[in-house]
Amino acid sequence: MANIAFIGLGNMGGPMAANLVKAGHKVIAFDLVEASKNQAKSDGATIAESAAAAVKGADTVITMLPAGKHVVSVWTDVVPAMTKGTLIIDCSTIDVESAKQAHALAAKHGMASVDAPVSGGTGGAKGATLTFMCGGEDKAFGAAKSVLENMGKKIVHCGGAGAGQAAKICNNMILGISMIGVGEAFALAEKLGLSHQALFDVASTSSGQCWALTSYCPVPGPVPTSPANNGYKPGFASNLMVKDLTLAQDAANAAGAATPLGKHAQEIYKAFDAAGHGGVDFSGIIQHVRGLARK
Ligand code: NAD
Repeated sequence: MANIAFIGLGNMGGPMAANLVKAGHKVIAFDLVEASKNQAKSDGATIAESAAAAVKGADTVITMLPAGKHVVSVWTDVVPAMTKGTLIIDCSTIDVESAKQAHALAAKHGMASVDAPVSGGTGGAKGATLTFMCGGEDKAFGAAKSVLENMGKKIVHCGGAGAGQAAKICNNMILGISMIGVGEAFALAEKLGLSHQALFDVASTSSGQCWALTSYCPVPGPVPTSPANNGYKPGFASNLMVKDLTLAQDAANAAGAATPLGKHAQEIYKAFDAAGHGGVDFSGIIQHVRGLARK
């Protein structure tokens, strides 16, 4: 049993912290929002007065926060309050530069650190089936793995500091682009008089096969568990896809990488978001695609 401090108890962090309690760890939790703290308390965590108070005496510290600025700010606050040699893991999805800044902060104070963004959404957080993409030194990763295994089923060491975030944004850029591609194919099939099921049966067993089609099909019917069967309730909201595609574009600009489809996908999701659909599952982008005028 470890003493784990958990900071950021939102849609993802709340159930992740609850899974650590279920696994038998002592969890000391903190969030700014009262309702999140109350939920964590009823899940069996002890609530601290502040983030800095939560990390006192912890073996491992985990953060699950909205963006890079929150992570750097919280780490700046908590790292000096931690016992030297303690492991700190950030599971948020943030920009690579902020992740590296957070690692440097931990190193300066003698802490081991890992960036470990996740894939799998709120369902994965609740079911402890998340995939963790990790960046950090071998020893820190080894220590993090045994903790992360309580919250996920696949833990991948992607490389040094920031490599987890790099893997996450590259993966989500593929996802954003491929979901638009699948949506366009169904929208074209509709105009050509081809049924959804016929396109699915062919493409899912042909070279058009991809996760966006076979696990998350954007039309109702072929994949009963996909959000299309549930009014496009997220799942993974479009505004989070905008966030991840923007992180990918920021990283591409900083690294000098050409990503024209990633850029276009970002613009398409931004337009969907701006039209008031930010809370719709990202597979709902097919509705936007259907509405586009042919130029
Ligand atoms: P959320 O907004 O529900 O939760 C974030 C929590 O952080 C909130 O409860 C907020 O009060 C808390 N917080 C903010 N600043 C804080 C501070 N200074 N001290 C303590 N707590 C603070 O967000 P979420 O959906 O849980 O996502 C968290 C991260 O995981 C994000 O980076 C997101 O991109 C990523 N992510 C989300 C999903 C998803 O499906 N929701 C999937 C994969 C990754």
